[in-house]
Amino acid sequence: MRVTFATEAAPGRPNEDFVAATPEAAVLLDGAGTPRGSDSGCSHGVAWYSRTLGSTLLASMTPGASTLAELLAEGIKTVSSLHDGTCDLAHPGSPSATVIMLRRTNEALEWLVLADSVLLLDLVDAAEPMAICDDREAQVGVLYRADMDALDSGTDEHVAAHRRYVETLRSYRNRDGGFWVAATDPLAAYQALTGSMPTGQVRAAALLSDGASRLVDRFNLATWREALEILGQRGPADLISRVRAAERSDPRGERWPRGKTYDDATAAHVSLGTAE
Ligand SMILES: [Zn+2]
Repeated sequence: MRVTFATEAAPGRPNEDFVAATPEAAVLLDGAGTPRGSDSGCSHGVAWYSRTLGSTLLASMTPGASTLAELLAEGIKTVSSLHDGTCDLAHPGSPSATVIMLRRTNEALEWLVLADSVLLLDLVDAAEPMAICDDREAQVGVLYRADMDALDSGTDEHVAAHRRYVETLRSYRNRDGGFWVAATDPLAAYQALTGSMPTGQVRAAALLSDGASRLVDRFNLATWREALEILGQRGPADLISRVRAAERSDPRGERWPRGKTYDDATAAHVSLGTAE
């Protein structure tokens, strides 16, 4: 695999996304931010969580090792063991992250998608790319986000509504009828969307945090096919700069209501090279 990626924090904040790759594997994580004034029980923070879990996963993803879900469950346990002596891991706001894992073996391309990052697969025999996204959090979120979306971004009222929204959703985290993310419960790994395909059937893949996929799935400024073309021809940084331009054009969230005016944005493009 040939992998190119770019990641950019929302202005003025630490980057809570993480992306990394080897010639056989790629991972992308999007840490769920703790809103200002909200507690998490962890002194390390969300950026540490995504970086530590992401590098643990990548190191474990050698060909022929366990399934991706097993590796994710092990990774969650490993990261918990690094701070269960110093932090309150039972806290409902303890750091969490979305996870995409992609691994190439001799025969197959395998994937795992947990929570709302997007994996695109450009298939040899399909006109449209396959978009894999776990939208359970959005399904819960739609019940609670009307108040927040009705307020102008950047106002104190919007900040307070966003905090209430995030805290409300915590009670749905990692339970049936709610949504699943990587946090402290290893069993969340087995709730991920997983699959595999013979390597010859996939031309390319893209991994996007929701701060990057919003160009397509919130702003409707490109299709998935166009996003893949931007990534393959102009590169991941170009896609992120288009996201930032759209965000700057709508600073108050009037055209596109959203929790965060700017979000950490990360995109990776993976060329499988088999069909080129
Ligand atoms: Zn901690």
